[in-house]
Amino acid sequence: MRKRLVAGNWKMNTDMQDGYRLLKDILDGVREDELNACEVHVYAPFTHLKIFSNTLNGSGIGLGAQNCHQESVGAYTGEVSAEMLASVPVQHVLLGHSERRQYFNESNAVIAQKVDQALANGLKVIYCYGETLEERESNKHFEVVETQIREGLGHLSADQWSDITLAYEPVWAIGTGKTASAEQAQEIHAHSRDLISKMTNGDVANATRILYGGSVKPGNAGELFGMADIDGGLIGGAALNADSFKGIITA
Ligand code: PEP
Repeated sequence: MRKRLVAGNWKMNTDMQDGYRLLKDILDGVREDELNACEVHVYAPFTHLKIFSNTLNGSGIGLGAQNCHQESVGAYTGEVSAEMLASVPVQHVLLGHSERRQYFNESNAVIAQKVDQALANGLKVIYCYGETLEERESNKHFEVVETQIREGLGHLSADQWSDITLAYEPVWAIGTGKTASAEQAQEIHAHSRDLISKMTNGDVANATRILYGGSVKPGNAGELFGMADIDGGLIGGAALNADSFKGIITA
């Protein structure tokens, strides 16, 4: 059985004080039985990670960063390595988010290097992928997501997949209020699982969690998470409000 996962991607939101308050509200509000049934992660800005790591220690809520650099060390001013993240410590890192692909020109090849850095330093990865509206409207969505998965993760061994979670995030649904229908999401998730099976084997495909992301809210989470191949959600906007994030965890 795949344990469900609800992961909050805070993006570049909250200063230290607001972020700490939000984290405490989440921590105080999530029930133990919910944490037994569902894994919960927070992906916070780099500046917040050390304090959050201390605060979340032993809480059952996982902590992650939203990016890492593709090289291990060196003259890359302003960048943060996977080794630095592991030393905080955080346990997780989000890679390949569409905003990184779009605004920072991250290619599948660069993201593949980042995945290697993360795994080499003991971090677990949420690998984001998903098509643009234009790609969906020209009926290229299956091809696009297949290329993103093959080029970003195709080099991994079957064993390495135990540290990978996928997050299907159609770009047209991120932060737009438009959600993919449960059927549209399920179709891509089933296709992705089938692809993992071809790339590795059926056991790995069955064990790998595939999250949905894109305007998930308490009101639509239950239907999405009820689909056979949707194992939870990557949450942006609704993760910045403790009540709506908790509502999604409850769903
Ligand atoms: C995201 O950015 O990962 C995301 C899913 O955002 P939102 O929930 O705001 O669409």
